[in-house]
Amino acid sequence: MSGITGKTQVLGIFGSPVEHSFSPAMHNAAFASLGLDFLYAAFHVRPENLDRAVDSIRVLGMRGVNITIPHKQAVMPWLDSIHPSAQIIGAVNTIVNDDGQLTGYNTDGLGFVRSLREEMGTEVKGLKVAILGSGGAARGVGVELALAGADTIFLFNRNPEKAQELAAVIAGHSQAKSVVLPWTAAGLEQLPRELLLINSTPMGMYPNTDTIPPLVEDYLRNSWLVADLVYNPLETRLLQTAQAKGCQTLSGLGMLLYQGAIAFELWTGCPAPLKVMDAILKKSIEK
Ligand code: NAP
Repeated sequence: MSGITGKTQVLGIFGSPVEHSFSPAMHNAAFASLGLDFLYAAFHVRPENLDRAVDSIRVLGMRGVNITIPHKQAVMPWLDSIHPSAQIIGAVNTIVNDDGQLTGYNTDGLGFVRSLREEMGTEVKGLKVAILGSGGAARGVGVELALAGADTIFLFNRNPEKAQELAAVIAGHSQAKSVVLPWTAAGLEQLPRELLLINSTPMGMYPNTDTIPPLVEDYLRNSWLVADLVYNPLETRLLQTAQAKGCQTLSGLGMLLYQGAIAFELWTGCPAPLKVMDAILKKSIEK
């Protein structure tokens, strides 16, 4: 940090807890590699202090912040404007400060879409997609896929009411068809031959690396692209099983990388140094 100057622009992440975040290492390595005069720190912001923390972005002239658990929804009323897709998703993970005007974005789902394009060469237009889980990550990914032109989004969730809610959001804001299916053999049998299947549940995530979303392994087809939003481990049991069945697979690391890259580009106006960021993320996950 010896390069800090009087002009250094400050960025950070607000969360509670926040110590586990890979973002400071990823962004600081990216700034260093491009010689940009920015620094990025983690700030433990408790829920009762969120409004004052957001105001400090303006008061201290910070360039922006990432927002993580548990503040992604609660932060929205404190901002000056919200990007339309973040508004639909109902959550913000990135704030940009332009001369005291704070704009909220959600780069999670966009990060997934970009990872799909860059890593698999898959275009979203006309795609049929099934999402397992209907929590925050599913909402970001489902809405961005729908806005990018996906044809149909099949939703499976343990609590079907949450899947219905997400289906209504998708139907209300895009041309995509949204279909809630029961998470049963009969539901999974209805999935088409050409499909992007996405696990957005935490099943398979460290330390529960032996777990896999129920029933799915019996219905995997080798024509499917199977993506896991879980990035630790890089190869979940779902992805290993899908590979063994001949499916193409995509790990959650790409989404993590590109959500950060999009935020980096919003703050700095420079293309993100993806190789540097990817290497740091892999090293952090291995640790
Ligand atoms: P969340 O809001 O808590 O949602 C979790 C979802 O998984 C809910 O729909 C929940 O179902 C379902 N679920 C949880 N445990 C389950 C189980 N045992 N059986 C069946 N369903 C279960 O969490 P989130 O923020 O969406 O995150 C989900 C996963 O995505 C996490 O593993 C997270 O690490 C990953 N993620 C990755 C990235 C990335 O950049 N790659 C970004 C964000 C999140 P109910 O509604 O029935 O409770």
